[in-house]
Amino acid sequence: MNATISSEVEKFLKGLVRRNPHEIEFHQAVREVVESLMPFVLEHQVYREAQILERMTEPDRIVSFRVTWEDDSGSIRANRAYRVQFNNSIGPYKGGLRFHPTVTQSVLKFLGFEQVLKNSLTGLPMGGAKGGANFNPKGKSDREVMRFCQSLMTELHRHIGENTDVPAGDIGVGAREISYLFGQYKRLENRFTGILTGKGLSFGGSLVRKEATGYGCIYFCENMFNQAGDSIKGKTVSVSGSGNVALYAIEKAHSMGAKVVTASDSSGTIHDPEGIDYEKLDFLKDLKEVKRGRIHEYAQKYPAATFLEKQRPWQVPVDIALPCATQNEIDQNDAELLLKNGVKAVCEGANMPTELDAVRQFLRAKILYGPAKAANAGGVAVSGLEQSQNALRLSWSRDEVDTKLHTIMKDIHQKCLEHGKQGDFVNYVDGANIAGFIKVADAMVAYGAV
Ligand code: NDP
Repeated sequence: MNATISSEVEKFLKGLVRRNPHEIEFHQAVREVVESLMPFVLEHQVYREAQILERMTEPDRIVSFRVTWEDDSGSIRANRAYRVQFNNSIGPYKGGLRFHPTVTQSVLKFLGFEQVLKNSLTGLPMGGAKGGANFNPKGKSDREVMRFCQSLMTELHRHIGENTDVPAGDIGVGAREISYLFGQYKRLENRFTGILTGKGLSFGGSLVRKEATGYGCIYFCENMFNQAGDSIKGKTVSVSGSGNVALYAIEKAHSMGAKVVTASDSSGTIHDPEGIDYEKLDFLKDLKEVKRGRIHEYAQKYPAATFLEKQRPWQVPVDIALPCATQNEIDQNDAELLLKNGVKAVCEGANMPTELDAVRQFLRAKILYGPAKAANAGGVAVSGLEQSQNALRLSWSRDEVDTKLHTIMKDIHQKCLEHGKQGDFVNYVDGANIAGFIKVADAMVAYGAV
């Protein structure tokens, strides 16, 4: 970065930090984007004159509210929930809901900001948003989760709608939570309409939505390898997490001939040098999606595997690393270790799983690095397809949806190439940021000062 660009970046970020004090995750997400966008913005005066970067980093609105509910012992509990409606320049707000004790306004602003660019990259007409609550579903009964979801929707329903804002799942919000939320919306509004995505198949859900983020991540990874004249077939892979994104990334990687040797949760990692095959994956799905158990149970069932308590998977030598758990799960030391062990690709299923310094290490080493907003856009893309099916009142087949997902991930890869090719090297960070930015920025310029 030359001195002028670097001073513009620092000036911009100083203002952002002043306007949004203490929101460190939001600062981190904006820094990553602004560092790669600034040269492009400086070359295009129209975006500067319209103050696009300043406007794009300020959410349209944030709704924050109390969620009061009753636990199984009859005690009254209260949590804080939010919906950050970030930008609806190219379509209704769209983005997940997260239930996790670490949810704060800063975390949701980082996720909402990323979502704006990601949704733009899919080529579908979707704006960006994110929401959630500092509620921990872990250890709660189904009835407690139901009462929490009903109470949350009793407020949220005023702010969403099929042409306004369409939430989906994220960490801690899966099929069970979406069903409770949708049931309550329908009761309050007396309307059956596609106001949430990730719904059950019997009430408006789309085939392949559950699998879409994980599958899409693998399709994107395969595109990166193909571009480099290679393939993921025969490669060893480490995956972090064992939730929605991780499970289906493992499934697709295995089906495409790669060997996945790790999975994890917040208690630690399992390392299975023999690889996670379909039978073992079925066990994992049942453990995580049905029984809501802990990852060490995998090592009890399959003695070839070891349980690495409280450790992340990045010490295991692999060709491909797929962070699919949460933000900031690869730091500089992890990146060094991965590179020392010869990693060829890092492809992000989770949002912002790699700290900024670690991203820089991957870019310097010129490995294939697929940033989240491109690599995990398959989930929201199929959510967009779910909205289309709801609007048309029809359901597409599994093959139809999977083919569309394939095409969308290929197109996203192509857009990254257009804006990120630097000689023989593809900088997917620049590519994704610039391609996602242009569409939203042009719409904002066209609207004038709104
Ligand atoms: P899930 O709740 O289904 O799974 C999350 C997984 O990550 C669990 O295994 C969980 O372990 C682990 N995890 C969560 N927090 C931490 C933490 N602080 N430290 C270690 N492990 C942790 O969520 P998803 O799979 O839906 O989401 C995973 C990531 O993918 C998130 O970053 C999300 O924003 C992103 N994403 C999800 C999309 C989707 O369609 N679902 C779409 C695009 C991105 P434990 O059970 O122990 O908490």
